[in-house]
Amino acid sequence: MSANERATRALREILQNPGNDACADCGAPDPGWGSCTLGVFICLDCSGIHRNIPDISKVKSLSLSHWEDHEVQFMARNGNELMRSKYEAAVPVYYYKPTHKDCQTLREQWIRAKYERKEFSEPGKNFTYEEGTRDGVLMKRGRDNGQFLSRRFVLSEREGTLKYFTKYDAKEPKAVIKVDTINATFQHEKIGNPNGLQITYLKDYSTRNIFVYHDNGKEIVDWSNAIRAVQLHYLKVAFPGATDAELVPKLTRNFLKEGFMEKTGPKQTEGFKKRWFTLDQRRLMYFKDPLDAFAKGEVFLGNKDHGYSASPGLPAGTHCNGAWQHGITIKTPERSFLFTCESESEQQDWLKHFDDVVNAVMSPQEYTMEALFRHRH
Ligand SMILES: [Zn+2]
Repeated sequence: MSANERATRALREILQNPGNDACADCGAPDPGWGSCTLGVFICLDCSGIHRNIPDISKVKSLSLSHWEDHEVQFMARNGNELMRSKYEAAVPVYYYKPTHKDCQTLREQWIRAKYERKEFSEPGKNFTYEEGTRDGVLMKRGRDNGQFLSRRFVLSEREGTLKYFTKYDAKEPKAVIKVDTINATFQHEKIGNPNGLQITYLKDYSTRNIFVYHDNGKEIVDWSNAIRAVQLHYLKVAFPGATDAELVPKLTRNFLKEGFMEKTGPKQTEGFKKRWFTLDQRRLMYFKDPLDAFAKGEVFLGNKDHGYSASPGLPAGTHCNGAWQHGITIKTPERSFLFTCESESEQQDWLKHFDDVVNAVMSPQEYTMEALFRHRH
């Protein structure tokens, strides 16, 4: 047996240790790479990010690279569980830890924060995203012309708001957004920038979107964590008895699904029109264009025991003028909504998400939201 076969076999053994079966940084299963300077097992995507910080991390393939004996022993002594207790000793509860489904910017900043800046290695560090206020310039997409222009944004924990100003020294903000209505999600594809952030919020109970980016990945990730820190503070005041575990899911969250479907109007005799749909928890919003500032409409999806359902197909006799044939019917206590999808796999994927939502138990806040929707429509 050659030295390298011996190393490969030993590494395979070490992979059996608890914690080593998933990437140390994003949780993807079956990591195929290792950092022989940090002592962690990571996935292919994360190994690419580690390669960008060569002073700190030296990555090797578990099956193809040559491993020295002392490197194998180092991996055996350390490993994902022990290194997590070192590099993630003091991650703030509101800090968003990305998964393998998240964008490159989020994963890269998480890896740099952990190993390069060692932000979480010891408690008591002062995070810029935890100062209760943040004031800076972001590039914001213009509502009408789609051009990105620099705008001043000010986040305030004391006021519970995010404001933006069209001129740096302007007295009056262009918008005042209440932090408890914000959802902020990384949307590089839609925005066309690797650091693109979509900020969705409610104004007068209707959904608005703004699209921003910053050239520096750390800046935009710090903004998103600063919003989460202020939101957690707000929720702790609003719900004094609640635990962190109850409050953290109420901070910014990824959309469950987005994509195009066709829909009819309420009479169901109008033609099917192609719209962009966003499913955010129980709210199904639709837009003419993925980058629209305003939702054209929203559907609240309650629990199946209260008259909500989603099923494949369209009612008999529906005149399907659109190009798409894979129907979905959503029933709410008020009316039915008819949609069509481009392919059967899209139809199945939407239905899976709708089923998950209508089968889930509703929280008290969701009952409040349902009542607001009824009032509005
Ligand atoms: Zn990974």
